[in-house]
Amino acid sequence: MSAVVGDAGADVAELIAARLRDVPDFPQPGIVFKDIAPLLADAAAFGAAIHALGDHVRANHAQSVDLVAGVEARGFLIAGALARELNCGLLPVRKAGKLPPPTVRRTYTLEYGTAEIEVPLGLLDGRRVLLVDDVLATGGTLRAAAALLHEAGGTVVGLGVLLELGFLDGRALLDGLAPLHALLRV
Ligand code: AMP
Repeated sequence: MSAVVGDAGADVAELIAARLRDVPDFPQPGIVFKDIAPLLADAAAFGAAIHALGDHVRANHAQSVDLVAGVEARGFLIAGALARELNCGLLPVRKAGKLPPPTVRRTYTLEYGTAEIEVPLGLLDGRRVLLVDDVLATGGTLRAAAALLHEAGGTVVGLGVLLELGFLDGRALLDGLAPLHALLRV
């Protein structure tokens, strides 16, 4: 069996790995969906994962983070908890059509299809943002979200995910944007 790895150490990586559910052929044939619901439903494990991500971010960013931005919808769950852990504000990166104007919008491709996301204008001016999601797959979502946050006036100082699907090499697509923190890499 190969070792369980992640940027905040083997213990938290193992804790997450043990609470992910693989769902073959969802939402379409050929995709193995990584369901984080069992992790979220386990109070101690969810708390430990958020605490580990917060500690890792604090240790790796000399300057503090002002805002945690999360990508709709599962990214919201991570972002809300992490914002409290880091004592930061929260910013939703939403699917197109949900936010009142003014916003900036971008279309991108993901592992299964295309998507369009939006970021509100007027909240970001010069603020330091940590952008988070549940899963990093091809990297298209975080790349598009980071570009929007930048366009809206923010500075993306870090990227955080619970799980990185290493075989899709999303990390390469994010190269040069901001440091990536992944609690588990498979
Ligand atoms: P990507 O833009 O390809 O990096 O895809 C990341 C986004 O799609 C995240 O918001 C994930 O929630 C979702 N996603 C992509 N692939 C998977 C997967 N295999 N299991 C669970 N979520 C996924």
